[in-house]
Amino acid sequence: MTKWVYNFGAGVNDGHAGLRNLLGGKGANLAEMASIDLPVPPGFTITTEVCTSYYDNDKKYPADLRGQVDAALARIETAVGRKFGDKDKPLLVSVRSGARVSMPGMMDTVLNLGLNDSTVQGLAAGSGDARFAWDSYRRFIQMYGSVVLGVDHHRFEEIIESVKLDADVIEDTALTPEDWQRVVEGYKQMVAEETGKPFPQDPVDQLWGAIGAVFGSWMNPRANTYRRLHDIPASWGTAVNVQAMVFGNMGDDCATGVCFTRDPSTGLNEFYGEYLVNAQGEDVVAGIRTPRPLSKAYAKPGEVSMEEALPQAYAELNKVRDVLEKHYKDMQDIEFTVQQNKLYMLQTRAGKRSAAASLRIAVEMANEGLIDRDTAIMRVNPASLDQLLHPTLDPKAEKKRFAKGLPASPGAASGAVVFSADEAELRAHKGESVILVRIETSPEDIHGMHAARGILTTRGGMTSHAAVVARGMGRPCVAGAGGINVDYGAQTLSADGVLLRAGDILTIDGATGEVFAGAVKMIEPKLSGEFGTLMGWADAARRLKVRANAETPLDAETARKFGAEGIGLCRTEHMFFDPQRIGAMRQMIMAKDEAGRRAALAKLLPFQRDDFRALFKIMEGLPVTIRLLDPPLHEFLPHGEAELAEVAHALGMNEAAIKARAEELSETNPMLGHRGCRLGISYPEIYEMQARAIFEAAIEVGKTAAAPVPEIMIPLVGTKRELDITRAQIEAVAKDVFAEAGTSIEYSIGTMIELPRAVLIADLIAENADFFSFGTNDLTQTVFGLSRDDAGKFLPHYVEQGILTKDPFVSIDVDGVGAMVRIGAEKGRATKPGLKLGICGEHGGDPASIAFCEAVKLDYVSCSPYRVPVARLAAAQAAIEGAQANSTD
Ligand code: PEP
Ligand code: MG
Repeated sequence: MTKWVYNFGAGVNDGHAGLRNLLGGKGANLAEMASIDLPVPPGFTITTEVCTSYYDNDKKYPADLRGQVDAALARIETAVGRKFGDKDKPLLVSVRSGARVSMPGMMDTVLNLGLNDSTVQGLAAGSGDARFAWDSYRRFIQMYGSVVLGVDHHRFEEIIESVKLDADVIEDTALTPEDWQRVVEGYKQMVAEETGKPFPQDPVDQLWGAIGAVFGSWMNPRANTYRRLHDIPASWGTAVNVQAMVFGNMGDDCATGVCFTRDPSTGLNEFYGEYLVNAQGEDVVAGIRTPRPLSKAYAKPGEVSMEEALPQAYAELNKVRDVLEKHYKDMQDIEFTVQQNKLYMLQTRAGKRSAAASLRIAVEMANEGLIDRDTAIMRVNPASLDQLLHPTLDPKAEKKRFAKGLPASPGAASGAVVFSADEAELRAHKGESVILVRIETSPEDIHGMHAARGILTTRGGMTSHAAVVARGMGRPCVAGAGGINVDYGAQTLSADGVLLRAGDILTIDGATGEVFAGAVKMIEPKLSGEFGTLMGWADAARRLKVRANAETPLDAETARKFGAEGIGLCRTEHMFFDPQRIGAMRQMIMAKDEAGRRAALAKLLPFQRDDFRALFKIMEGLPVTIRLLDPPLHEFLPHGEAELAEVAHALGMNEAAIKARAEELSETNPMLGHRGCRLGISYPEIYEMQARAIFEAAIEVGKTAAAPVPEIMIPLVGTKRELDITRAQIEAVAKDVFAEAGTSIEYSIGTMIELPRAVLIADLIAENADFFSFGTNDLTQTVFGLSRDDAGKFLPHYVEQGILTKDPFVSIDVDGVGAMVRIGAEKGRATKPGLKLGICGEHGGDPASIAFCEAVKLDYVSCSPYRVPVARLAAAQAAIEGAQANSTD
């Protein structure tokens, strides 16, 4: 018999933290917490396998599930001495989803299940608190109504608002039991109208309705969007947790809260969190009431922390904090409830944190001896480092402060105000920077939050949906800016008499919570001490070298600052985008004979020499790979009358002749055209000029500084002859230049491997190459038969449909393009065992692709300068994972 249901709490723990895949994160950790004697109300978990089976079998449950659920429910009844549906001592339960990885706000929760017109009386009598009982019942109808029965949540809010208006009160807590009873009657009537059926009164029906809704919500659009954004396969499924209720809304000695064992924004080792007296969990998360800080250290004047309001429960919680960190050896995100001064744990999981916090926590935990250095390295998501490398507001800049909210997710951002997620997405796709402004966010807004540069909300606390999701995504976010009045209808936001409209520019600072009208000057980030420490550990752990793709001195300097160990790709054609040079470059391309080309090349030579000299100086003896010209012609051909006339004038041609020449040169598939070494072979004088510039610059720099060792790289080689011919040209130039200078330098000549044919004959090519660099941009284009320039029109659709798991131009297609790299590496090394191998396509900065490069034992990856730290960390993680895999083989 398959075990579909696992018990936890009250002395029976079928599960443990290791069963996360089967029980979901929440279920596994509830069992784990209960097994280390933390106060967990008893319950059970229906496994993720039930979810998978449910979807595999036409939304039907396994036949023996019902019996197992009945038995588990009976166990809870015995443990807490209450019975499901009992009119005197009713058992109430919560029903919550819990996937393998946490999906905040994605799945639905139902609390107080088991209440009906009769059990509510029992709850009132038993607790001696009618207000609490009716409040609990209306919460249940509200949650069940919206989550299970699909009633719009606004309908419920309208009813509460009208009862509040009648009673003339502002806070929910001021409503009397009779008021709540009226709310309940209003709810039931409205639900019956909306659904055509009375609100279900049988607790067993309620339970199965809720279980079905949790499984159903696994496939809802917002869960699908979240999974797509986070690469979570639908096949994982969700578990369902059913647990005896404890109540944070039974009076002023009750509370509920969410806390982190360390500060999730900064990483500071302080107990950080929020709580609400006399409330239930969803009040905190949904941002309906503004919560108060957990500990005194975070309380502002006038705010009463839990440490002061409920000292006994706080002290207990603080002990749990310590136990959990020592047990899990990671920062935990905890949900708790205090019922009549007694603490209960409802959830623990590894806490989401900002990139800065993640670094600080990893380094400090390693220094505290809680984890080792390898674990610290593995704890930081390389992609999240991007957040630390992004600009912050210049403190000296002039700013017009508009409002202030909570610093919910660090980083600064400017953009045009938009008020809906759809619009944010639409305008971001057109390349606009936008700030998404919402009263509060809900899971339906995820796509817009992702597309926006930053998020501003006027309601909700630091653990509200907007804050948690923005932190996870690394989007700057200011939450709960209550001084701002948002009017969706008029498309305006106003504060202190200042009015901004949709489309106006707004700047937010997610580190301070400040909001400014207009754009504010930003400055480059200063990296923290922990960044340096962790990078140092990563450097010691990695095997792959990390170089940068850089052409300009600024790129090269940035790359060095971020720890690049050389330049892996200098795209020389990018050196001619400058307006001063593009003219000569165009003349060279458009010249109709060798003499014309040579004249234009003579103008380009000094520029090239200066460029190389600057790069060699900055890189101070580190390897610099210079790729000879590989211009996709359409990027360089003159466009428009003025440009054509300018080139015609410089070349002494008339306009008709220049137009004819432009037509002659234009290509249907320029990315597969007269590019790379094909151009060098047609017009040898081009590569001759470049080789001369390289050698002359290297000799000159070598006179006063560490001698550079240029690595000259030939692009788009498909036959060995292409390499032989080009190599011979370069060697001839070297000979000439060395003779002229009366000295020589070391250099090497290698090739890009970026065409399938080059891969297949890599053993032959290696005979005449000193190194290979895999150009996985072109290799992806040619292996897939996808145009680099046009694939964007349909690739996203392919990814959405699951035809491809990821865009292969972003993350290497291991099965196809990866196989090519593997073959090329093997063949190359079969000819020359020590052949140096690198990668310089965009994949060189992508963590998953870097793991692949480690697996095939390339020597280095090369990526854009800002990705260098990402690559250093990803390379270290790949090495550690590789070593761990080997040790368990
Ligand atoms: C490549 O093709 O992967 C490459 C690095 O060269 P480019 O992108 O300049 O074609
Ligand atoms: Mg290429």
